[in-house]
Amino acid sequence: MDGFPTPLRCFNELHPAEKFLDDGVKTVTSVEQKKVEHSIEEVISDYKQLHSLPQPTLLREQHYQYLKKGLRHLSDAYECLDASRPWLSFWILHSLELLEEPVPAAVASDVCQFLSRCQSATGGFAGGPGQHAHLAPTYAAVNALCIVGTEEAYNIIDREKLLDFLLSVKQPDGSFVMHIGGEVDVRSAYCAASVASLTNILVPKLFEDTPNWILSCQNWEGGLGGVPGLEAHGGYTFCGTAALVILGKEHVLDLKALLRWVVSRQMRFEGGFQGRCNKLVDGCYSFWQAGLLPLLHRALFKEGESELSRQRWMFEQQALQEYILLCCQNPTGGLLDKPGKSRDFYHTCYCLSGLSIAQHFGNMDLHHEMILGREENRLAPTHPIYNICPEKVAKALQHFHRLPVPDDDDRVSDPAGASRSSDHQS
Ligand SMILES: [Zn+2]
Repeated sequence: MDGFPTPLRCFNELHPAEKFLDDGVKTVTSVEQKKVEHSIEEVISDYKQLHSLPQPTLLREQHYQYLKKGLRHLSDAYECLDASRPWLSFWILHSLELLEEPVPAAVASDVCQFLSRCQSATGGFAGGPGQHAHLAPTYAAVNALCIVGTEEAYNIIDREKLLDFLLSVKQPDGSFVMHIGGEVDVRSAYCAASVASLTNILVPKLFEDTPNWILSCQNWEGGLGGVPGLEAHGGYTFCGTAALVILGKEHVLDLKALLRWVVSRQMRFEGGFQGRCNKLVDGCYSFWQAGLLPLLHRALFKEGESELSRQRWMFEQQALQEYILLCCQNPTGGLLDKPGKSRDFYHTCYCLSGLSIAQHFGNMDLHHEMILGREENRLAPTHPIYNICPEKVAKALQHFHRLPVPDDDDRVSDPAGASRSSDHQS
């Protein structure tokens, strides 16, 4: 661990060369960009006035209180997320595991019971009880249950029916729709690959042609769009790349072009990442973009790239930590997009996930930490594919790999299906 080796970037004179240049032509985008840079300068100058020593602090206790409250009670502002309730469970549970705050057994059990009510009779999970199954809440629910990591949690997942659901949303070209009758985009391939691999239901026909379809989403910029032909975007790029890593096919991508695209999304002045070219910095891309670097590091290593660092990811880890700690924390708990925005559980989860990526290099065998500020700022590491803590991934894989992979032939008409599904529950 090397503490922070150099003084905080923001304590140096502000670098005019790092600021945005608009070539003297004002556009809506350049005006907005300058406003954001100005607001960040203000945050930094306020910080400098209050602190003689540059020791940005993670507001652990405040974040913990905010998350703990959210697990039991949500304000009316979350009404619009009524169809995303497994997401709220995942965002909060994952934030708590990164902070290494245990969840009491009774609360964890209540979360399991709630998620079990979100499981659809036709397989997969819905955004809330009585709603239709959808790949996004299915991913969130499976991740949340793996974070809980108890027998009760694992046994909630009906793997046979989950496989039926995944097969029902698979398209002939290799893509997936998010739900029956819903839209196709590359998120769905990641959600499907993530839950299928974690729960050991990854049958070959489920992902036939999927790597080629994902590859067709990589465009001339180097990143991936939501569907072929669309602009490259951080969230979709992460999903497509992580799905290919799960399927062992990441080498089909143009990895160097992808690397160049993603490292160019880290903002020179702000230190955080933007989601797309010409967009503003946003705390949640601390995970969606920076999270690509561990995936790329391993992919390039597998390809025989010999000049890779054994201590650092290929982005400015310190600058990202500064952005998150100085610009994305609400003083009363919770994290946010950028100064002036309000906190929410989504940004809390992905700012903390990105902070964890920026603090920890490596994997189980090779580990190098670079914690900006005090040692108490250290978060637990996160698994770069699933975005849950690595021990929870290992434990879930161990549990589900003891169970047989469901048979993928004649699934609907198979009369033995019911008995098999009760076998694996025991
Ligand atoms: Zn955001």
